[in-house]
Amino acid sequence: MRILIIEDEKKMASFIERGLKEEGYVVDTAYDGETGWEYATTNTYDVIILDWMLPKMSGLAVCSKLRQAGLTVPILILTARDGVDDKIQGLDQGADDYLTKPFSFNELLARIRALLRRSPGFAEERVLKAGDLRLDLISRQAHIGSQIITLSQKEFSLLEYLMRHTGEVVSRSQIAEHVWDLHFDPMTNTIDVFINFLRKKIDTDRRTSRIETVRGVGYRLLEK
Ligand code: CA
Repeated sequence: MRILIIEDEKKMASFIERGLKEEGYVVDTAYDGETGWEYATTNTYDVIILDWMLPKMSGLAVCSKLRQAGLTVPILILTARDGVDDKIQGLDQGADDYLTKPFSFNELLARIRALLRRSPGFAEERVLKAGDLRLDLISRQAHIGSQIITLSQKEFSLLEYLMRHTGEVVSRSQIAEHVWDLHFDPMTNTIDVFINFLRKKIDTDRRTSRIETVRGVGYRLLEK
């Protein structure tokens, strides 16, 4: 799950960024409205956290421009104001939710999870399953039968993305967009390397992998 933070207060931005990364989200941060707009229209995000008062382009303008451009990504507005009018205006411009500063980080996480649940194709279960492979999104553990599989944060995110699309072919660029951040170089073989790390951990039958390579396209997680 990849999240964009658009927030000009550096301390606030890094507080949110650090917390979300600890939760296993992939995070990009923009410090003004224009850069935020640019990131949002060139990359794919699962949620955008958008501050209201921003230099160069206001959060409100970013929000309405994104909606005008046809982007349906869930947007959560952060506002220091608590005027009812501001909230109404934000929601009118296409925001999905808002949070008034100061807020508790746990509340932010809960709001993000709620927004993700409303996204099309997002499984609501806390445990994703594909055959005897289970991925617990809360304890962040993978199991095959009763055996616990230890995954790094990146392996976990990659497996989560594949499991949310079990049986579907996902391309390398789709994987890159949801599992890696802005600094990722799509020309490297990083994704293939991580797929192989995962295969070593989750393939109980060495002859046929749970992760099928679809030549020239990408990968598909099989239910077995
Ligand atoms: Ca601000």
